[in-house]
Amino acid sequence: MKKEFVLKRVLVGIIMVILLLATLSAGWVLTIDRDYCCGCETCVDICPVQMLELHEGAVRIIPGMEDDCLGCEECVDACPYYGAVLELEEQ
Ligand code: SF4
Ligand code: SF4
Repeated sequence: MKKEFVLKRVLVGIIMVILLLATLSAGWVLTIDRDYCCGCETCVDICPVQMLELHEGAVRIIPGMEDDCLGCEECVDACPYYGAVLELEEQ
């Protein structure tokens, strides 16, 4: 009886670790419709990992930082064109 209980606890622990690893490894994809961007740089200033920059009048992801997004949505919430310029999706 005690052995079964311990085995169940171990199995639950393994499942929890797998779920945690899956959550931590989930990536985020930020897409930008540069046609609607006014270049205000609000998102550039607010991004905690500084992965955005202004390029030729509109925002873009700094090349090489595509996988650095935390999925915090700070940029999406701060953009005055909410939903029209920045869109965040879980990979
Ligand atoms: S979601 Fe957060 S980390 Fe990702 S680009 Fe926007 S502000 Fe930066
Ligand atoms: S906050 Fe919006 S409009 Fe301003 S630079 Fe960023 S994406 Fe462009």
